[in-house]
Amino acid sequence: MGTPRETRQAQAETVVDRLEAEYPDSTISLRYSNRLELLIAVILSAQCTDERVNQETKKLFEKYDGPEDYANAAQDDLAEDLNSITYYNNKAKYIRSACETILEDHDGEVPDTMDELTDLSGVGRKTANVVLQHGHDVVEGIVVDTHVQRLSQRLGLTEEERPERIEEELIEIVPEDYWQQFTHLCIDHGRAVCTARNPDCGDCVLADICPSEKGDSEIDLAAGEPW
Ligand code: SF4
Repeated sequence: MGTPRETRQAQAETVVDRLEAEYPDSTISLRYSNRLELLIAVILSAQCTDERVNQETKKLFEKYDGPEDYANAAQDDLAEDLNSITYYNNKAKYIRSACETILEDHDGEVPDTMDELTDLSGVGRKTANVVLQHGHDVVEGIVVDTHVQRLSQRLGLTEEERPERIEEELIEIVPEDYWQQFTHLCIDHGRAVCTARNPDCGDCVLADICPSEKGDSEIDLAAGEPW
């Protein structure tokens, strides 16, 4: 078990510093070439790997060009084009409906406010934050996905369970300049070292400050259970 810094703010700053040194090129791994493609890729990425989404969108973005194409597509056809993605039927519905709203209410453009984005079908705060950050250069919050959630809990940055509450706490302690990058750093570290089932604490640059470190710790603070 490592010894966390005295305050959560100091802990967050140290985490950012160390992970930034470890992953200097950390960034979003979804592929897209415009805001609508970004929105669609993020909707598709819920409960699905970015790698799978990138495979599927390669063909999708060649076939569909703009919100009209999605809004006018038959539900069955669009679902068929997404059928290697988890929950493809629902996601096809969300995408068609979101594109109808984009055409009717936003002149065919992906909106640039949290309220307007979260009014679109299939778009929650997490998806909206990603689109704002990477599509509009607007950083209003911190994207809390499964990696951010797990690492923040393990590292003692939060004891909250719900992503919305975790985001509220992280916003208080992560330096504002790093709100966007914090997510990508956690994702990279969560994939490479601090995996859900078998974190490699012996090879972790955060081991000395991590209260979940497996050395002589008995508790995974993300699961709330002994290792
Ligand atoms: S790999 Fe281990 S030491 Fe590193 S952050 Fe995860 S739980 Fe903590």
